[in-house]
Amino acid sequence: MRLTLLGSGDAAGIPLYGCDCDLCTAAAADPGLRRTASSALLESGALRLLLDAGQSNLCERFPSGTIDAIFLTHFHVDHLQGLFHLRWGIGESIPVYTPPDPEGCGDLYKNPGILEFVTLRQFETSRLGDLDVTPLPLNHSKPTHGYLFSDSRQRIAYLTDTKGLPSSTSACLADLPLDLVVVDCSFAPGVGSTGHNNLDDVLEIDRLVAPARMMLTHIGHGLDLWLRENPRRLPSHIGVARDGMRVFPHAS
Ligand SMILES: [Zn+2]
Ligand SMILES: [Zn+2]
Ligand SMILES: [Zn+2]
Repeated sequence: MRLTLLGSGDAAGIPLYGCDCDLCTAAAADPGLRRTASSALLESGALRLLLDAGQSNLCERFPSGTIDAIFLTHFHVDHLQGLFHLRWGIGESIPVYTPPDPEGCGDLYKNPGILEFVTLRQFETSRLGDLDVTPLPLNHSKPTHGYLFSDSRQRIAYLTDTKGLPSSTSACLADLPLDLVVVDCSFAPGVGSTGHNNLDDVLEIDRLVAPARMMLTHIGHGLDLWLRENPRRLPSHIGVARDGMRVFPHAS
């Protein structure tokens, strides 16, 4: 498996519109510091899967025939806005696997175009190529699935958006050796939210599921500022995502 994070930001992104802080000023000048909507590309052999579709330029980034399927974590706009353009394409349909959510988002169900929405049930494993994919329930304001991807040697869990983990999900993951967990970390320590982790929540998830490595994603403006001021406050096996970063296999 190879996992590349396409976007590492929350719904607002970095630079934050209207903000002139040092971070946003630097990010406006340096694309390497920007954070776009959290999403990822998982490759396994010839199989190419998009995890969320929040990149607004999906049609340019992924020419027809280069994506086998899309796994949506949930129907919030920052996780699917690229679908609103992609659907009007022509050619083979693209399966879009989702949690059960009768509302969906906008008119996507009514006018799916080339998208073929397929509802998955939590903890029911599907096979794609040589990968097993298991949807895991998360704690969020809409029905939300994290996904566990396994092949014969490796396991990666992609867990956003969430506040903590449901006990069923943490119990499932705690039983498995995990090579990598990519997890929602939107807020700095001590900052409250009902739908997203802060760093304290992430450290508790780390304690519960004990992965070999962990990467923080869905990073918000306040957390990004905190990370700049506290660069050495994370355990060595926890990293901070960047847009475009290859996070698996680990480079060093
Ligand atoms: Zn700012
Ligand atoms: Zn969300
Ligand atoms: Zn989100």
